[in-house]
Order: sequence, then C-alpha cells, then structure tokens
Amino acid sequence: MSSFSELPTVKPDAAFTLLAAYKTDTSSNKVDLCPGFYRDENGRPWILSSVIQAKERIHADPKVNHEHLPLAGHTELLRQSKELVFGKEDRDLKRVASIQTVSGTGANHLAALFLSTKLNPKTVWFPNLGWINHTAIWKLAGSHVQQRFYPYFNGENQIIDFDAMVEVLREAQKGDVIVLHACAHNPTGVDLSKEQWNTLATICKNTGLFPVFDLAYQGLASGDVRQDASAISDFFDRGNLEFVVAQSYSKNFGLYGERIGILHIAALDVTAAAKITPALTQLSRAEITSCPSYGARIISQILGDLKLYDQWLEDLATMHNRMKTMRESLYHGLLVRKVRGSWDHILTDTGMFSMTGLSTTQVTAMKEKHHIYLLPSGRISVTGLTTRNIDHVVTALEDILG
Ligand code: PLP
Repeated sequence: MSSFSELPTVKPDAAFTLLAAYKTDTSSNKVDLCPGFYRDENGRPWILSSVIQAKERIHADPKVNHEHLPLAGHTELLRQSKELVFGKEDRDLKRVASIQTVSGTGANHLAALFLSTKLNPKTVWFPNLGWINHTAIWKLAGSHVQQRFYPYFNGENQIIDFDAMVEVLREAQKGDVIVLHACAHNPTGVDLSKEQWNTLATICKNTGLFPVFDLAYQGLASGDVRQDASAISDFFDRGNLEFVVAQSYSKNFGLYGERIGILHIAALDVTAAAKITPALTQLSRAEITSCPSYGARIISQILGDLKLYDQWLEDLATMHNRMKTMRESLYHGLLVRKVRGSWDHILTDTGMFSMTGLSTTQVTAMKEKHHIYLLPSGRISVTGLTTRNIDHVVTALEDILG
C-alpha cells in the first residue's frame, strides 16, 4: 500500500476550478467574471506596451545572461521598488529592508514565515471578507499562530463596518499581526478612507499590533500609483511604526506568470533594517535560493527609464479607465432595467472587484442558466466585462434577481 493512500482528499481551489469549467463551456454567450487578471476589451490577456518595449531592449542587450540574481534579488529593482511603494521625497528608505520574492504570494509567505518566528505573534487578524489565500499562507508558514477575523465589510449596505472593526481590534494583543489590503480590497473593492487609516495607525501604535500591508493592485485602484500607496507612506512617515509590505507586480505590469514581488519591512531605524535583510535572505535561500530574473529585469527597465515609465503610467491608465467604463456601463444597465438591489457601490468600488450580494444558489443559476461565471461568494471581476457581453450580464442579473 502506498505511504500516501491515506492522504485526505483536498477540496479543489474554487477560482481555478471555475476557470477550468469556463474553458470547457461551449456556449458562445459564456462570460468569465472570476479573473483576478486584467482582460482587454476582447476578454483576452493584455501585454502592456511598456512591457513589450522593455522586452525588446533586454533581448537586444548582449550583456544579458542567464546567471542567478543575487540572493536578495535584482538589486536595482529593490531600490526602485522602495521608491515606488514608499515615495522618494525626503524619506529615509535605509530603514526599509527589502527582498525579492516569488510574486505577491511569495511576499506574503515570507512575511508569515519571518513574523511567525521572529515576532512570535499569538494571533494573526484577517479582514472578513478577505483574500482566501492569506489564511492558507499563514496556516502553512505560521501554523502555531492563531487566526482570527476582524469585521470589515458590511454586505447589507456595501460599506466598511469601521466601528465594529475598531471594537473587535480592542481584543488584539501586543505583537499580534494584522493583515490589511493597502488598496483595491479583494474581494469587496471597498477601501479604508484616509481618516480610517489614520485611526488604524493609532490603534496599531497603541496596542502594538503589527501591520502587514498586502499591496497587489498599486495603480489599479485610483489609477494613481502614489495615491494607491498613500496609506503605506502615511504609516511610514509617522516614524514610530514598524510594518511589512507584501508587494506584487503581477497585476500592475500584467506579468502574472513571471512571478515578481518584493517583501519590504519598514523598521524603526537603519540598524534594525540592516539586521532584517540577512535574516530574510537566509529564509529565502533555504526555500528558493534566488528569484526568477526575467520579470525583474523587465520591471527594472521600465521603472528606470523615463520614457518607459511614462508609457507604463499610460498602460495603467488604459487598464484603470477600461475597468471604470465597464463599472459605469454595468451600473447604468442595472439602473435602466431596475434590477433589484442597490448598485451605487459599483461606481465607487475600486480595482477589479465588487460584491454583487448574490447567494451561492444565485451564483450557480448564473452559471447554469446564463453561462456567466462568478465566485461562489458573489464576487465579480469587472475585467471580465466587455461592451459585447455587458447586456447579457445585465439581462442575466435581471432574470436572477428580478
Ligand atoms: N494579494 C491579493 C489581495 C491578491 O488578490 C492576490 C492575487 O490575486 C495576491 C496577493 C497575489 O498575487 P500574485 O502572487 O499573483 O502576485
């Protein structure tokens, strides 16, 4: 008998299972509203113009080889990433320790591994709702850390239940970790206001809660890269908080398969930061030795060249504007057809996602009757909407919701 025959059956990942089902659906009307990936007007993956140009330069450069990156990652990209996340004006970025990771997932993983051993938190707090992989990552990398949820999203009125959040966080203890979405909250699309971030920073300072910012959508929430990282730079500028940023370059560069991310740890002083970097490098060495180089080179080219950087900002605007237009079309369609529900949030939600309020039964009916795929939670990704399919989506919602 195999040593593995008693392995428990693992429930398949909901999002990837739906993707597989969508691919085999033969209906010409099918619509995929699941993806956490940008899709263009034809519902296809989009390669950013800045990325195309950066790739041409890399391919034309005879000095580029296939050696390992340094253990901490692409040196220039680490510097550029600090500036992109924290802003470069008068900021003492030497108190930030940074290391390249296998995308945002890897940054979250390394953060969980580092914090669960070096900070030794009793509890890690996640938003309810949140990104499902956060809990899985912490279960794997910080298995001794208790997991709890803080209230975040009130589905009734589609807003943040900030009072409830603050109330529950009173139970947090010094050294506990709190996971936060820096912008374009997944799955709700609802972000904290500047005032709420300020209150939260004070709570973190007073209770000794240790923040982990997940920054997976910089530039895709407001369309402005600085604005989308403003909570992070505000926390940093306080000068009295230590925290983590798990940065992903998947979405804002459309480089999903290349797996590029950076883990930043903002320390109180330069001496502490200098100790953190080798500690992170040691963990990373044992897991992956060094990170993939290709995507890191592409992004570093873009961030380091004025013309390519401007092109990237234009590319971000293209993605952001298309999502905004699709939000407007969906909102107007629902309003014109008087589809039951309150839909104003579709216009104000940021990033790729919004919650529809559909029950799991209604989600299944959307798929079975109308060939429209969304997550069981009722989350839609507006990147799956196009001018061609929007009418079909509105008609289906009208049919299901009345
Ligand atoms: N964090 C959040 C909130 C996400 O939504 C995602 C992707 O969906 C990630 C992190 C990880 O992204 P990746 O590992 O592809 O960079």
